[in-house]
Amino acid sequence: MSDQYDIVIIGGGPGGYVAAIRAAQLGLKTACIDSTRNAEGKGSPGGTCLNVGCIPSKALLDSSERYESTRIGLSAHGIEVSEVTLRIDEMLARKDRIVNELTSGIGMLFKANGIDYINGHGTLHADHSISIAFEGDDKSKTIKAKHIILASGSEPTPLPPVPFDNEVVVDSTGALAFSEVPTRLGVIGAGVIGLELGSVWRRLGSEVTVLEALKDFLPAADKNVSRDALRQFKKQGLDIKLGAKVTSAEVKKGKCFVEYESGDEKQSVEFDRLIVAIGRRPFTDQLFDDDTGIKKDKRGFIQIDENNLTAMKNVYAVGDVVTGPMLAHKASEEGVAVAERIAGHKAHVDFNTVPWVIYTHPEIAWVGQTEQQLKESSTPIKTGMFSFAATGRAKAMNETGGFVKIIAHETTDQILGVHIVGPHASELIAEAVLAMEYRASSEDLARTIHAHPTLSEAVHEAALAVTKRAIHKAN
Ligand code: FAD
Ligand code: NAD
Repeated sequence: MSDQYDIVIIGGGPGGYVAAIRAAQLGLKTACIDSTRNAEGKGSPGGTCLNVGCIPSKALLDSSERYESTRIGLSAHGIEVSEVTLRIDEMLARKDRIVNELTSGIGMLFKANGIDYINGHGTLHADHSISIAFEGDDKSKTIKAKHIILASGSEPTPLPPVPFDNEVVVDSTGALAFSEVPTRLGVIGAGVIGLELGSVWRRLGSEVTVLEALKDFLPAADKNVSRDALRQFKKQGLDIKLGAKVTSAEVKKGKCFVEYESGDEKQSVEFDRLIVAIGRRPFTDQLFDDDTGIKKDKRGFIQIDENNLTAMKNVYAVGDVVTGPMLAHKASEEGVAVAERIAGHKAHVDFNTVPWVIYTHPEIAWVGQTEQQLKESSTPIKTGMFSFAATGRAKAMNETGGFVKIIAHETTDQILGVHIVGPHASELIAEAVLAMEYRASSEDLARTIHAHPTLSEAVHEAALAVTKRAIHKAN
């Protein structure tokens, strides 16, 4: 392993490892430093996403959905199941196996691309050298690079009145590993993590209460979507309390006693486990020295220009540690773009077409702007909506909740936003992202042939509905 590189990337999550692979593809001598280790003490690249985020949460979402649909969803299909047994240890072991397979897969990709993977904590110094500290080892190592990408990611934001004890009061990582189903589960924050992990444990049998400080539910989503989703979640039994401000929490004899204010009233509630999911904050502990000149904003995000360059020459930052949506695919696209810029190519990330997905049931997905955002900017718009209940495929699947909503510009007809709540919204949104990337009009989508019977017909019909010519509804 030589100590001089074209690129060194600090952080091996979706921002860092993808940047490393792209850089190596472009012929640059690359190293990726990542500090994460698994339970066996082995290096585990892939960052938050693979180790404790996207992947393990989706594994549990899938398992818990199968459990619930087997228990209560099959009778609608004429299938009676006499006994369904939950083996939580096997469910968790399956999730851990998936994580191990994927993280070792990143290790293999590093090898296949000739990337030096270094499992340690990297700190950047003003002379462009990076010192690496190894856990449980006094020795350290120093390497040098022409270009550096900081991709150190984020960590859960703590809530001071509710300190984590990592047993009763946990963050998202703890909530992926409860060894038994809590009887009463509290969740603070009705955001993406609160809804996804709250859904997992509700499906497995917990009585789940979600305490959300804001009065609005999912304010970033289109109003039609958030209203419909809230109705469906409540019907499933998620007890979502809006406008609930948590003031204190105390753990006594393995139970958590939470006090919160709702309007003028003080309320108290007792939980067996409590998940705090009020957002994530950038992670920059011992990432760079002060004399590097790299600056952070007041929320702790590394400041960058439009090319992801920090205030230090040849040092870039990507992913959760910079502003923008904290999403794996946004981090990866930034990583690719920066690697390509360093290799002398022109690269661009279109932040207007970053898809958002919430993997609940029904799934929620959107791209582009909401109706409320467009109205605030006085953009003239027309909209088309189509319910899954009116599509043959959704009926056949017994998945009739939700709809597709398409918003187009009133005069140019360019698609400005697509919002979906319903079955497989996470997959359906890809067509909308592509359409927006190509600056398609609603007419383009309306004239595109969609296979029958598919859920994607709801996207087609919503596009037709923009000009009041949907076939399977009264316009
Ligand atoms: P990270 O993935 O956080 O990776 C940073 C890595 O750098 C970590 O391994 C860290 O240990 C390491 N590191 C930090 N500092 C140093 C240092 N100085 N030296 C060496 N290593 C260092 N996003 C989605 O798009 N879809 C999802 O479904 C989704 N689900 C999620 C579910 C949960 C429960 C959580 C918590 C997050 C989820 N996310 C999801 C968000 C997603 O995980 C992040 O947006 C993404 O991981 C950010 O990638 P990143 O590369 O910027 O940082
Ligand atoms: P979030 O920002 O999605 O939601 C946090 C929620 O907590 C908000 O609704 C906020 O109003 C509420 N809140 C804040 N302070 C509060 C308080 N004191 N009391 C009660 N409620 C409070 O954050 P998250 O759910 O923690 O997720 C963090 C990030 O991880 C997300 O922003 C997302 O980018 C990423 N993530 C993405 C996915 C996905 O893409 N499917 C899944 C999980 C996480």
